[in-house]
Order: sequence, then structure tokens, then C-alpha cells
Amino acid sequence: MGRLQVVGRLAPSPTGLLHLGHARSFLLAWCSVRSRDGRLKLRMEDLDLSRVRPQFVDQALRDLEWLGLDWDGPVEMQSDQIPAFQAVAQGLCERGLAYPCVCTRKEIENARSAPHHGEEGPIYPGTCRDRYASLEEARRASGREPALRLRVQGVRSTVTDQFAGSLTQDLERDVGDFPITSRDGQIAYQLAVVLDDARQGVTEVLRADDLLSSTPRQSFLQDLLGLPHPVWIHVPLVLDDNGQRLAKRHDSLSLAALRETGVCPRRLVGWIAQSIGLTGPSVASPCELLPDFELHKLPSTPVEFSPRLVPLLKPRN
Ligand code: GLU
Repeated sequence: MGRLQVVGRLAPSPTGLLHLGHARSFLLAWCSVRSRDGRLKLRMEDLDLSRVRPQFVDQALRDLEWLGLDWDGPVEMQSDQIPAFQAVAQGLCERGLAYPCVCTRKEIENARSAPHHGEEGPIYPGTCRDRYASLEEARRASGREPALRLRVQGVRSTVTDQFAGSLTQDLERDVGDFPITSRDGQIAYQLAVVLDDARQGVTEVLRADDLLSSTPRQSFLQDLLGLPHPVWIHVPLVLDDNGQRLAKRHDSLSLAALRETGVCPRRLVGWIAQSIGLTGPSVASPCELLPDFELHKLPSTPVEFSPRLVPLLKPRN
């Protein structure tokens, strides 16, 4: 019997311009899959309606094509799945695994039991746990639209990452009951990503390691929903020359800005190739990296990119 085909994915959020850090993790995800004749899906994670802009979808597609990355099948929009996500969230509530929560952010911050902070804000003090029998009751009794939170009492979740190693989180202590839908009706990233990866048959999730700490939550959700765990590979971030992770504020290092200033994509791919431990030419297309590509060559420390390097990525006459 042949080995199962690997299926990876690129999952940009069209809430801003893609930057060099995205280019590096997308190129790694592409190489990891293509070097094993696998398939790659492209999914736009467009659930955050207050920040999504259609022009960022177009920009992301241009950026990926400019870099020389391709994908299989149509570009999928995560928002097309909202009704399916909602049905799963309600199902978790009906099974008693999630519960309606009407607390505002401010109420959580001000809770008498002084919530302690996890890495993503205050840990929910459990005010609405076991308070309402159903969404309808929560709505009626509070006059508010409820969120849904997942129960995590006593849950320890361990994930094994192919690059970062093993990570165990005590979800109750480190994260707390976390939202799967928000009070304004949006589907939380943690739920959407797990459902979409499963629906698209994704077997390998390679992404930047700022999402590593989300993985134990995603693994727990997969267990509750009877979904398979993909292989996880979390890779170090790209930092600027002050040691700060690249973010939206680094728009001068966005792929759109680099393209406009005349950066050559083959030189950029060559720079990334060297930053991931490949020793080939400094000017290359993604396909030219494949014969030499091996994940274990990737350095385990973040890589720094200084704006001073930009002129070196321009064509030389
Ligand atoms: N859409 C997320 C982002 O752009 C990535 C989610 C994921 O790879 O799981 O940060």
C-alpha cells in the first residue's frame, strides 16, 4: 500500500498586508508538501469582519504568485463555512461541553475573583459556567446575546510538534474556558481552524510558532469532535533588527512594498532559502529549492531581517 498523500495548507488572514514572515512560513509549508508530492490548499481566514478587507485578499493572491508559490484547487473563503461552524458550536453546547456566557470583556476584567492573566488576556473566572440551561435561557434572562465557551476543567492537553517538540498545557490554569463563538456572533479562530483543516483533509499544519500555544486547545477540540490530529510543525518567526516580531506595523517589509521598490522575488526566495538552512544559490525559484529541502536543516532560533538588506534583494545590473 502507498503512503497517504500529505495535504498542507496556507491560511492567510486578509486583515492586512502579508510580510516577510508570512513569505518564509508559506515557503516552508509549500516546500514541505511539494518535496513529498503532496497537495496544498489555500484558505483565506476571513472571519474577523471588522478587520477583513477585500483588497487584502487580492494582495495576498498577488504576493503568493509573485513569490512563485502555487496551490491545488480553488481558493476557499473561511466565511463560506459560517453556518456549518455555528451548527458545530451549538452541538458542543447541547452536549454540555460548551456553555452560554453573557459576560462582557469589562466584567471579566473586573471580576471579584480577580482573574489572573494568561497569555491572551484574563483567564475567564467561570461566572456563567452552570448558570444557564440553554442559549435561549441565557438570552432571555440576561437580555444579551451570549457567547459560547468551552469547558476545560481538569484538562491537560499534550501535543507533539515535529519541530518544536512536545508541549503540555494545563488548559484550566493556562487558558481557562475559552470562547468558540463571540457575543457578536463571530466564530472563534480556534474552532474554525480545526473544522476547516478537517474538512479540507489537511494532514500537516506548518505555521509560525506564535500559534504554538494555540495548538493544545486545537488538539482538545479535535478530540471532542472526533477529528484527526494533523502533523504540527511550528517554525520560528522572522524578527526585525530590534528583535521585534514582524507585524502589521512593518508595512515597509510587506511583500507589496518590497515588490513595489523593485525587490526581485528570486533573490527574496534565495534569502529565505539561506535562512532555512539551505546552501544552494542565493537567487532561486521555490521549485529550485526542492531537491535540497529538509526540515531538519531549519535553525531553531528566530531569524532577523534588517531593512538594510532590502537593497541587496534588488536585481544587479
Ligand atoms: N490565519 C492565521 C494567521 O494568518 C493562521 C492560522 C493558522 O495557520 O492556523 O495568523
